Amino acid sequence: MSDGQKHFDVAVIGGGPAGMMAAGQAASLGAKVIIFDKNHNLGRKLLLTGKGRCNITQAEFNDREFIKKLGKNGQFLFSALAAFGPKKIIDFFEKRKLPIKIERGGRVFPASEKAQDVLETLLKYLKENKVKIMINAKVLGFEIKSGKIECLKLKNEKIYADNFILAVGGLAYPRTGSTGDGYGWAKKMRHKIIRPSPSLVPVRIKEDLVKNLQGLSLKNVVLSVWQDNKKQDLKFGEMLFTHFGISGPIVLDLSKKIGELLVKGDVKIEIDLKPALDFSVLDKRLQRDFIKNSNKDFKNYLPELLPQKLIEPAIKMSGINSDKKLNSITKDERKKLGDLLKGLKFTVAGLLGYEQAIVTSGGVDLKEIDSKTMRSKIVKNLFFAGEILDIDGPTGGYNLQICWSTGYAAGKHAAESKG
Ligand SMILES: Cc1cc2nc3c(=O)[nH]c(=O)nc-3n(C[C@H](O)[C@H](O)[C@H](O)COP(=O)(O)OP(=O)(O)OC[C@H]3O[C@@H](n4cnc5c(N)ncnc54)[C@H](O)[C@@H]3O)c2cc1C
Repeated sequence: MSDGQKHFDVAVIGGGPAGMMAAGQAASLGAKVIIFDKNHNLGRKLLLTGKGRCNITQAEFNDREFIKKLGKNGQFLFSALAAFGPKKIIDFFEKRKLPIKIERGGRVFPASEKAQDVLETLLKYLKENKVKIMINAKVLGFEIKSGKIECLKLKNEKIYADNFILAVGGLAYPRTGSTGDGYGWAKKMRHKIIRPSPSLVPVRIKEDLVKNLQGLSLKNVVLSVWQDNKKQDLKFGEMLFTHFGISGPIVLDLSKKIGELLVKGDVKIEIDLKPALDFSVLDKRLQRDFIKNSNKDFKNYLPELLPQKLIEPAIKMSGINSDKKLNSITKDERKKLGDLLKGLKFTVAGLLGYEQAIVTSGGVDLKEIDSKTMRSKIVKNLFFAGEILDIDGPTGGYNLQICWSTGYAAGKHAAESKG
């Protein structure tokens, strides 16, 4: 780059979904924009989203309900979501000839089911608006003068801009380039960082038994989280056993709560395998079955109740002899079986780390950021977007929507405050 080319209206650091949206939006308003990513291409994490299908956003709820799903910091997104919410991002992609489909639970995907198509649409948006794309360009830091960022530093050069947007993500899935670089910079610029922690992350289980259950997927179950004999939270849906413990949508969504509870003490989980039946209805069903199949061995009846992989553990846990005929099972034993079906118990050993986390909880303190513009209240020409912020949501497209909304706001307002 010659010296004359080194001054931009807006410099965006980080080429993930938030950075790309910010850069494209700023450039579409006429700003001269440059975007940096240390990887050899933009959107590396975006390509992994939704198992390569990219759950773009969440269309089931209105803005108020959407915000509620984000927990205590959700309110921060109010203005940004109103300006550029799920409907707008769907329009954005459809207008650019990327058809969209909406699946169960309001999950929005490209109809092609390819995250690559989402990335290509964003890259085209950047190119059409003449955004200068710098790949293999690791930003090392910033120079501050009179309370404003003057330039950013690369290995061998400095780049000057009127406004800077930090969109370098958090610490989740560091192999995609999200290594938390932004926290140190923000801290140096006197921003407070709320302690980051891995979120939407699989859970390790103490009992060795889970190793035998590896690969077992359970649908339509209720997973509840317990501490000090009190139920703390629960979710209905799908989960999966792995060699270390449990994963799948409801586990990931409960992981934040489990992480918070683990700081205070031991955490147990219970799986209700028959949530549609309460104890008494289930017990009546067992009684009926036991009469109907009175001469059947207990072990040969269990496949009617449980997936194959759970049969051995259920026999062990219930303490009922596997060869016992159903007609000789006692009331107490039947009750034990009912308890097991309604509450398969495990002890949490911990959470997996950032390597496996879908998002980072914590980040740049929202109190120091204007929620309409994403502008820093401390450094005048600094804006933030995406996962670097202390806001995150459950699975289902919420986290990308946070990126689209905050990226759009940061890009728009950084462009409008140029010069
Ligand atoms: C496996 C997986 C699946 C997911 N699926 C979904 C899904 O289906 N739906 C959903 O809503 N969310 C999903 N998420 C979450 C979503 O991907 C993230 O919330 C989102 O990518 C965050 O975007 P971002 O732009 O803030 O940061 P990132 O996507 O992390 O991008 C930040 C970029 O900044 C670059 N960077 C970092 N430091 C520097 C530096 N010093 N210099 C230059 N560049 C730098 C990085 O290389 C990176 O490309 C998923 C996450 C994972 C890990």
